[in-house]
Amino acid sequence: EIPKIYAITPTHYRAVQKAELTRLSHTLMLVPNLHWVVVEDAESKTDLVTKLLAKTGMSYSHLNAATPKSWKPKAKEPRWVKPRGVLQRNTALQWLRDNVSPNEDGVIYFVDDDNSYSLEVFEEMRYLKGVGVWPVGLVGGLMVERPKINAEGKVTGWLTVWSPNRPFAIDMAGFAINLKLFHSKPNGKFSFESEKGYQESELLKHFVGSLNELEVKADNCTKVFVWHTRTEQANLAQEIKLRKENKPRSD
Ligand code: UDP
Ligand code: MN
Repeated sequence: EIPKIYAITPTHYRAVQKAELTRLSHTLMLVPNLHWVVVEDAESKTDLVTKLLAKTGMSYSHLNAATPKSWKPKAKEPRWVKPRGVLQRNTALQWLRDNVSPNEDGVIYFVDDDNSYSLEVFEEMRYLKGVGVWPVGLVGGLMVERPKINAEGKVTGWLTVWSPNRPFAIDMAGFAINLKLFHSKPNGKFSFESEKGYQESELLKHFVGSLNELEVKADNCTKVFVWHTRTEQANLAQEIKLRKENKPRSD
């Protein structure tokens, strides 16, 4: 049996949510031996996500955890002010600790609902012994951010422009963690309190002692198999107007 990929997706309601999860599910459905852990940022599980997951026929776990109001991003606030998906990712990590055997072969990967994934990224991570890293496209104001690799094929730093001195200057989509390693470090989790942009570093410091332990994937970190795409907010101006006039379209 090939090692299982545990894909962790925080998700929250907005007009494009169903489209995002549909698109993402149609990628993940193509990945062999993947278990999808979907954590809704909501007080309770919604019908929308419940039905969508049931329709996929995938192996999945459906959880929910509402972000406390004080940590919820506000509509007009710049995107970087509050970290997103923190409580949901931690809820998924706790679920893994409680429900998945430490003897199982597998890896953990964080899959945001709006990113774009090539199937290749999942095969790069599947046999990791520790923590693996690879480039991420369309992030940090660049076409691609990637680990800096030396002649011995080891990571020596980060080819990023924004905050390159972070211990792990890498996006959430640019690494995965072996499940046994994860289980061996019971304190490994995210924190609302970490400095902005330090979520990945906050987590990885528990699992990686020095950069040369990182497993370099994607052809020496030269290939891009995942993109930090973002979806525009839906323009619902007419919808809102019709609702105000109390004549929503029914056709
Ligand atoms: N997310 C969430 N609650 C929120 C905002 C975001 O659960 O209040 C989820 C979102 O659905 C996504 C992840 O957290 O899967 C990262 O959020 P987003 O894509 O908005 O952040 P980015 O890193 O692209 O700025
Ligand atoms: Mn995103």
